[in-house]
Amino acid sequence: MTTKPMMPEREADLLRAPGNLPGHWSYSQLNTYETCPQMFYLERLMKEPPLTINGGGIGGTAGHRSVEICEAEKLWEDDSNIDLMGELFVANFREATRVEQEKHPDTPIRWGGRKTKNFPDGENEYWWEGPAGGPLMMKRYAARRRDWAEQGMSVIEGGTEMRVMTEVPYTVEEPQIVDGEAVMVEVAKSKPIIAYIDIVLLVRIGPNGIERGIADWKFGSLMSCKPRQMVVYSYALKQSHDWDITFGDIMWMRGKDVDTQVRRVEIPAELRDQVPAWYGEMAKSIDAGIFGPKPNTLCASCAVRDRCSWGRHISEKELSDE
Ligand code: SF4
Repeated sequence: MTTKPMMPEREADLLRAPGNLPGHWSYSQLNTYETCPQMFYLERLMKEPPLTINGGGIGGTAGHRSVEICEAEKLWEDDSNIDLMGELFVANFREATRVEQEKHPDTPIRWGGRKTKNFPDGENEYWWEGPAGGPLMMKRYAARRRDWAEQGMSVIEGGTEMRVMTEVPYTVEEPQIVDGEAVMVEVAKSKPIIAYIDIVLLVRIGPNGIERGIADWKFGSLMSCKPRQMVVYSYALKQSHDWDITFGDIMWMRGKDVDTQVRRVEIPAELRDQVPAWYGEMAKSIDAGIFGPKPNTLCASCAVRDRCSWGRHISEKELSDE
């Protein structure tokens, strides 16, 4: 009788990535790794085709693209542009749908959200294009944008969709021969990260004079609003521009009122300075080839579920209960 653990060949393969790791990380890649290393491996490294297209992702793309145009054209300034902004969203939503379907032909779209009497499929294209979907979120965007102007906050020149690249240092222990003996030595490494400061960089006149902050528009579920994203972006701006970002506004466009739409995160320097430690831990795990499944609440909607050693055991019943 053998005591050797049984490990199917394919799963053993998943423990080590091929030599095609990207040369830099983005916040979203590392967020995926933190959510589930195997999802990161299958989606981001192996580029496995998805089981389904993420309908919420299409809505988010349309929202961001629309906000970008509204910023460039200053459409938010005038209330009479509300209908135009709604139409802009719909046009961008259709374009984003077309692009996704062209990328993944014959792949169904998985719509998220609650299934209701009017929308038994959940938040489908009719919901997103209808008055309670994208156009309403654009209306909220314009209202909040005007609030900022009234509060004396403005977008820094070039601060829309700002691309920032910086190196994050970390250390790993590696075996080396020193004086004829094998010892573990701490080796300094670094990894470039690219951050897209989602929409705007703000300046406000606070009690301490000028303060800089960042903002990020969110069109998906509350789960997509992660304070740590703001902290990572503030770290990137400190490194690249030597700017102290003291707050991040997560602008959740599904919120029904100002209080739920604007979620301000204060970013003390001590918190920002923890980013290398956090990234370093992940970089070490990725370098070590740790890509095992990490079951979580997103498993049922995971686009690579069928290729995951955990996800492929999720039954139809469990899926329909979600
Ligand atoms: S099904 Fe769950 S455990 Fe498997 S890859 Fe997807 S998120 Fe990870």
